[in-house]
Formats: sequence, structure tokens, C-alpha cells
Amino acid sequence: MVHCRQLKKSTITEDVLRDIPMSIQRIYQYPEPVLRQKTEKIETFDNGLAQLVEDMAETMYDAPGIGLAAPQIGKSIKLIVVDISEDKEGEKKYMPLVNPEIVDHEGNQIDEEGCLSVPELTANVKRYQKVTVAYQDLQGQAHELSTENRFAVVLQHEIDHLNGILFIDHLSPLKRNLYKKKVKKWLVK
Ligand code: ZN
Repeated sequence: MVHCRQLKKSTITEDVLRDIPMSIQRIYQYPEPVLRQKTEKIETFDNGLAQLVEDMAETMYDAPGIGLAAPQIGKSIKLIVVDISEDKEGEKKYMPLVNPEIVDHEGNQIDEEGCLSVPELTANVKRYQKVTVAYQDLQGQAHELSTENRFAVVLQHEIDHLNGILFIDHLSPLKRNLYKKKVKKWLVK
């Protein structure tokens, strides 16, 4: 992990802890409205943004997941974090993409997806095989990234979140309705 707030043992009292912002955030789950909102473009590239990215990465790895979009922690802004670790056991590496947008695509692929905001469901989803994504880094510099296969799926899934779209929206109405019914039952309990 990139950071872990360190405190001397003696200073940890309830009062101190109350003043420290939690870095692992609550993950909002379907059907919470924030997951359906249109997100706002990020114009300010400051320490607050960098801190938010660190919190998102920590939340993502804690879950654990391989991608997280800001609406999933209740922030309606155009920001995603994706895992780019070389292997599962090695050092965790992630990449933030600010204001990401798919600017080109090619072909199709079908792969299994799940989502931290859509618990207890995985399903095959049809996506583009290759995508080119325009985005900004934490300093506001513009970049373009072309990728394919699994990483292209992750980027499409996370960018969908910024447009209020969940992977269940790509399923057949029958499958989607089955899931909605299941969630309604949980909510009644
Ligand atoms: Zn998701």
C-alpha cells in the first residue's frame, strides 16, 4: 500500500481517532441513488484529490476489488482507480484516471464481471475488445491509453459508473429483474 497513517500508540485515544478521516470508505450498493447520478468533471488538481485517490485505492484493496469509481464511495465526480499490479502476490500498484472517457473502440468480447456495488452477482457481459481512453493524471496532464482484453473490460466497467451505469444494465431484462427481486427481499429483512 502507498500509505498507512501512523500514530504513536500513546496518542491513540478515542478523541484523536475521531479527528482522523477514515481512509477506508463505505462502498455504496445498488439501489443507492448516488450510483445512478451523472458525475461532475474534475477541475481542481490539489492535495484533496490525491488524498481521495489514496482512500479509494485503500478501499478497493480492502474490499478486495480491481477497480473503483468515485460514485461507489458516494462522490459524484469523474474519477476512477484501477489495479495495475503485475501479479496477485507482488506489490500492489494502481492507477488513477481523472475525467476518463472512451474515445475509440474496436471489436467485442464477453467476460465475467462482478461489482463491489452489486453484491452476490457475477455475469457475462459483452464489451469492446479494445478501447482507447483519454484521461488526466493527478496533475491535470492529459493522456491517452490504448488497451485490450481484461484491462479494457475493467476500464469500461469503471467508466460506466461515471455515467450512472451498472453492469446489470448490460444483462437481459430477465436476468436483471431476477437480481432486482433478490435485492428487494434483502431490503425487507
Ligand atoms: Zn462496479
